Formats: sequence, C-alpha cells, structure tokens
Amino acid sequence: MNIAIDGPSGAGKSSIAKLLAKKLNYVHLDTGSMYRCVAYKAILNGIALDDEAALCQMIDDTEITFDSNENVYLDGEDVKNNIRTNEISLAASKVSSLAKVRAKLVARQQDMAKDISVIMDGRDIGTVVLKDAHVKIFLTATSLERAKRRYKQNLENGIISDLDQLQAEIDKRDYQDTHRAASPLKKAEDAIEIDSSTMSIDEVVDTILSIIKKKENAHD
Ligand code: C5P
Repeated sequence: MNIAIDGPSGAGKSSIAKLLAKKLNYVHLDTGSMYRCVAYKAILNGIALDDEAALCQMIDDTEITFDSNENVYLDGEDVKNNIRTNEISLAASKVSSLAKVRAKLVARQQDMAKDISVIMDGRDIGTVVLKDAHVKIFLTATSLERAKRRYKQNLENGIISDLDQLQAEIDKRDYQDTHRAASPLKKAEDAIEIDSSTMSIDEVVDTILSIIKKKENAHD
C-alpha cells in the first residue's frame, strides 16, 4: 500500500507524512528534499539553475539518500539543515520546473517505492510518481495561514520574520509550482482534499488515518 500526499508549500505535508509513517510503520520519502539537494549542489558548484543539461549531468553524479530519522544525505553528507533556507526553497522551485531534471528524480522516487510501503509527499506524487497510490491526499491551507505557521516556526528558532514577506514568498512559490509546464502542482482526480487552515496537525493525521482505514475496509 502506498500513500501520496501532495499540496502547496508549507501546508504541513512533511510533518504529517512523518507522523503517519511512524504510526503505520511505513517509510516516509520527502521528495521536496531531493529537489532541494539538486538546487543546493548546483549553487555550490556554480551551475546555473536553468542549465538543464549541466544539472542533469550533475544529478547522474549525485547520491541522495535518507535514513529513518529524516536525515538527508547528499553524496554522503548530512544536509538536512543546509537545504531548508529560503534561498534553497526558491532555487528548488526553479530547478523543479525543468522537465529533464524532474524525469531523473521521478525515476529515482519510483525506484525507491518499488518494493516497500511508502508515504511520499511532494507536488506530483498522486499525478505522476505514484499514479496508482492506494490513498491520495491533497493537503492545502490558505497562504496567510501557512505564512503564520512559518512565522511561528521561525520564532521558535529565534528568528523574527516579516509576516507579509513570508506570505509573498509562499505566494511566489505557489505560482511557480502551479504554472510550470512540467508536472504543475495539481490535485489528482482521485485525491481527497483536506484544507488544514483551521485544523491541528493531530486532527489532520486522524482524518487521514480514518481515510486509510475506510480504504482498507473497502478492500477486505
Ligand atoms: O516540499 P518542498 O517545499 O521541500 O519542495 C521544494 C520545491 O521542490 C517545491 O517548491 C517544488 O517546486 C519542488 N517539488 C516538486 N515536486 C515534488 C516535490 C517538490 O516540484 N514532488
């Protein structure tokens, strides 16, 4: 059984997928971190974020792995924190608009999901990567709510940010992700949409768990 969770930036996909994976004993794959690794390595190596050929060559020479503690390794180095900056968020969104870059990462994602039960989160999981996932969730929240969550998260890390600027960055990334030609962010026809604007993380997790249960019962 595979579970796909898609949705815009900051809707809580990764935190929720992580909790679900623990409860269900599944492997969680955060596909966004793969695009982030590509963007991060490209910047380190001075490769332009729109140079598709050079990026593809770089990817062929790049190892991206995960461990069960949600650490992300780029060529063996733990980059979990390095890839979470604003600069890398926007850069990841840029490289992810390139069809050949996507094809390379999608092939890796499909390979990782081949023989195991996974919960994968991203933008194109239900529409492209795991088209036949048993459960597909499209998780949303208003951009203001997502900006408020990011603001709070930053504050917890001692960073005071500008709420309007956070919301503008989220809106910009949403626009880039939904308007690109290659696999734009969109809800799969058979996905169930959950608007988490007024829900807690636990409420979202419980809602998804009950959707999974219903699906399992329908199969019995
Ligand atoms: O999910 P996260 O914010 O970490 O993803 C970073 C960027 O990678 C997104 O803005 C999006 O452009 C891209 N992405 C994608 N397809 C995925 C996962 C992420 O295009 N499956």
